[in-house]
Amino acid sequence: MTTQGKNDRAAWLQGPSAKCEVMPTSETAWRLVLLGAPGVGKGTQADLLNQRLHACHLSTGDVFRAAGHQKECDQSPAMRTAQEYMRRGDLVPDSTVWEMVRERSGCLHCGGGFILDGFPRTLTQAESLKQFMENEGLALSAVVDYELPVSEIVARLSGRRTCSKCKAVFHLTELPPRIADRCDHCEGTLFQREDDRPASVKIRLEAYSRSTEPLIEFYGKLGLLLPVAATGTPEEICLRTLEALEAKVKIVYC
Ligand code: AMP
Repeated sequence: MTTQGKNDRAAWLQGPSAKCEVMPTSETAWRLVLLGAPGVGKGTQADLLNQRLHACHLSTGDVFRAAGHQKECDQSPAMRTAQEYMRRGDLVPDSTVWEMVRERSGCLHCGGGFILDGFPRTLTQAESLKQFMENEGLALSAVVDYELPVSEIVARLSGRRTCSKCKAVFHLTELPPRIADRCDHCEGTLFQREDDRPASVKIRLEAYSRSTEPLIEFYGKLGLLLPVAATGTPEEICLRTLEALEAKVKIVYC
């Protein structure tokens, strides 16, 4: 397997008027959805899978966070409202999320494929995505469902640190940065996300079991679901994912 220059995800993070400098290239366009409770490690897995499969990591949470770092006067009213939901740990309304994803639908057409992380998160969003993909003649390769006990999820979230510049994710014990509070990749400052604090974590886990767990049945019925145990090191989980994908889709990646 090979690695490529890290895609900057500019068109996804900044909006459709931005152009990506490094485009993903792949003989096989993998189109994946990653499911799993917050803190299960979807973002880390999306980055590792991006290195192996070359499909672009598309996280809706990252788009909302990127918008939150803009000056308030540059944010649309919908994005400002989204920030309030996010700070509380609540789900952003479906209409706002879908409007944001639709604006970036070019990324769903990308020849390198995509890895959706944090979207869809409700049945309404999953239906919108399904309809859109059918209309555009696109198909998902698989929906990976990362499974982990709640106690471990809470431990993971409280130790998670994110780079303020490149958004790389670290963990104080599982994936520590080489220098404390500094990103290994770009030397940006690491911070704890507001929604990783205990009160927000509780709300996020409740929102997950209420709104997102039904997607397991939805994608199970479509024959796309791939359960993967999210225990062990990030590399072990990634390997397990690749093996499961290979067995399911029977496409050789290299
Ligand atoms: P994440 O980084 O995926 O955990 O997302 C962080 C926060 O962004 C969530 O707690 C929600 O407030 C919001 N968010 C991200 N993606 C979605 C989505 N698909 N639907 C609703 N809210 C979302």
